[in-house]
Amino acid sequence: MKAPRSAEAFAAAQEILPGGVSSPVRAFRSVGGTPRFIASARGPYLTDVDGLEYVDLIGSWGPAILGHAHPSVVWAVQQAASQGLGFGAPTERETELALEVRRRVPGVERLRFVSTGTEATMTAIRLARGVTGRPLVVKFAGCYHGHLDALLAQAGSGVATLALPGSSGVTEATAAETLVLPYNDVAALEAAFAAHGDRIACVITEAAPANMGVITPLPGFNAALRRITAAAGALMIVDEVLTGFRAGPSGWWGVEGAVGGDDGWTPDLFTFGKVLGGGLPVAAVGGSRHVMEHLAPLGPVYQAGTLSGNPVATAAGLATLRAADDVVYARVGAAARTVATALTEALDAAGVAHSIQWAGTLFSPAFVDPASGPVTDYERAQAQDTWRYPPFFQSLLRSGVYAPPSIYEAWFLSAAHDDDALGRIVDALPRAAQAAAA
Ligand code: PLP
Repeated sequence: MKAPRSAEAFAAAQEILPGGVSSPVRAFRSVGGTPRFIASARGPYLTDVDGLEYVDLIGSWGPAILGHAHPSVVWAVQQAASQGLGFGAPTERETELALEVRRRVPGVERLRFVSTGTEATMTAIRLARGVTGRPLVVKFAGCYHGHLDALLAQAGSGVATLALPGSSGVTEATAAETLVLPYNDVAALEAAFAAHGDRIACVITEAAPANMGVITPLPGFNAALRRITAAAGALMIVDEVLTGFRAGPSGWWGVEGAVGGDDGWTPDLFTFGKVLGGGLPVAAVGGSRHVMEHLAPLGPVYQAGTLSGNPVATAAGLATLRAADDVVYARVGAAARTVATALTEALDAAGVAHSIQWAGTLFSPAFVDPASGPVTDYERAQAQDTWRYPPFFQSLLRSGVYAPPSIYEAWFLSAAHDDDALGRIVDALPRAAQAAAA
């Protein structure tokens, strides 16, 4: 499938934007070929500047749970925009959106809005250090929490896609304050606390990792994290930027943490983004009142933002969450199962060893031997047959299906993926699986 205008647009972009993009994975470096320049999106479809249509499986990297340009969200944004684009003063809508978050995740006693997931995790870490007076941050290999210096070591997502260990430009002093542990490994966590417990401010984890491909936390892992941090006086930060309001109505916490008893868990702080802004820049950090009230203006931990709680962006988020009812989540889950079933059948028929990895309504394929069980950590995620993914991806693209341009990303379905859109994906998969087998 030729895309001459995208090729021209990419050449022009590279003359002014490093790599031709505003965020690295969009450049298609790990899958090859020309990134498609998108002109518009509606429902489950993207249309590029050549007029080619694709069934979208990235959903703006998560936010588009209702599909693109959902009428009630577009209407809310238009209404809000007509009343002014930003005031730099409080609005009632921020309170409404924060209350909607708390309705879904009651552990969020207080919430601070920011504009990106990166800002949310950055603020969470500053808060943890401010509250505990301790320097060290523990993260897990393969978890991505945005591009803040403290959390770029062995990060998944684009850092994994480009096969980088971390990032140049992060000082040794900063890196030395981050301990990176293998995911799903309670013994490693206990050992880190035995060695450094009184210096650890927090442990940050993706609620269910989805940036080294999707990984289901082993039963009891998040609960153990809760126990260990609480015993040591460190904070537990659960990053739901990707999974929040996407893995289920109350995020991964609603799937796993809310169960109660010994297996339940509620962190000190959550971070949210993506679906929370419905496609516009809204993210947030929220959690216990005690911890959150350390933030300025009540407390000594400074945090601020010109665009924080922007009235147009919060209108998009509020309209999205209000429309995202149980029917929406049921549709997203059913669409994901339809695609995952067709995917596994196509890969089986082509003789491609794989595991389908799940977290709520999120899934991704991993090209590993299923006899060894699902992927549970970064080491195994990186050891898969990554070379199978570029031909697989390119075949889907030629068939009009826009899969994530990286093996390490989740597949994002939406409530707008109807029978027609799903049928196009299902029809494209056997040929893509053959390409992966070659
Ligand atoms: N945390 C997680 C789990 C993410 O998946 C991402 C982005 O993909 C981020 C944080 C960073 O969010 P943003 O790209 O909005 O800065």
